[in-house]
Amino acid sequence: MMRVADKLIEQHCLTKAEYLELLKFWQDSDVAKRLSEEAVRLRKEYYGDKVFTRGLIEFTNYCRNNCYYCGIHRDNNNITRYRLTCDEIMECCRAGYELGYRTFVLQGGEDPYYTDEKMCEIIRSIKKDFSDCALTLSIGEKSYESYRLFREAGADRYLLRHETADCSLYSSLHPDEMKLETRIQCLYNLKSLGYQVGAGFMVGAPGQTLEHLAEDLAFLQELRPQMVGIGPFIPHHDTIYADEKAGSVELTLFLLSIIRIMLPKVMLPATTALGTMDPLGREKGLQYGANVVMPNLSPVKNRKMYELYDNKICTGEEAAECRGCLGRRVMSAGYRLVEERGDALE
Ligand code: SAH
Repeated sequence: MMRVADKLIEQHCLTKAEYLELLKFWQDSDVAKRLSEEAVRLRKEYYGDKVFTRGLIEFTNYCRNNCYYCGIHRDNNNITRYRLTCDEIMECCRAGYELGYRTFVLQGGEDPYYTDEKMCEIIRSIKKDFSDCALTLSIGEKSYESYRLFREAGADRYLLRHETADCSLYSSLHPDEMKLETRIQCLYNLKSLGYQVGAGFMVGAPGQTLEHLAEDLAFLQELRPQMVGIGPFIPHHDTIYADEKAGSVELTLFLLSIIRIMLPKVMLPATTALGTMDPLGREKGLQYGANVVMPNLSPVKNRKMYELYDNKICTGEEAAECRGCLGRRVMSAGYRLVEERGDALE
């Protein structure tokens, strides 16, 4: 068996060059199997057969950014924009709480309508009524001061995918005003404020090579986030990448195993994008080291409007149906959904 795979398993870290060497074997089923077995062994050692749920509330699809890959980018005039009120958000949480969710994720475009003051009000209301729940924000790049205020208001976690750790790929995926440096500074700011932090990237983004992915792995190894979100890139018809091909499910699974071994206690979701590319994608994700699922709690009337990519799954179901469906899927993979906050160990 391969030397670099063994080294990763023994030492939980590799150099960037070694990650690249390992990634070249992504289509080798023996290597993939060896890594997935170790990934599953580690996730079971720390988290048993538990799968943690995060109730995702997509509360606004307004965005000031123009990320080239994203369906809700600012200049897309073909979508209907919406915002949820604080009451509507609370209603999503209430429904989610009844169903057993103990983490809520507020995700949205970067929408200036939600000033720091408004965000803090929403954060405080959620933490007041659901004091046994964790609250995660995923609302993009903000100042240190804004992040501090959100933290003070009660936010526990923050998801901000770095998207790619390579400067020039980052520039090719984003307009000039967006800088990788800013993104990375945000992640370190969030860490220093005591958030549990999530980074991550798309697999198979236009122009991405295995070298870029090796750079992403080396970056994660250095940042040591508590959460990592990865999923295949999926084209959206209203973007310049409409005709690009989607990222590979197999490569995504291979990366999930590597990330689990690199960061054994990491919270690692089997993402909706993975489930969109393969009807059994999320189940497979669990079998390659993932331990989290993030079903949608957004009002059904808004779900189709939060389309970051085409053919997104679960846009028609009520929250309860989603919970039931996922519960069965998780069971079929040999795991069980739990009603816990699901904080990362350590
Ligand atoms: N505005 C927030 C939330 C972004 S949406 C932020 O900036 O963090 C969450 C993630 O969806 C993004 O970080 C990106 O990695 C992913 N995403 C966006 N467009 C996508 C696409 N076309 N295919 C797959 N994933 C996509």
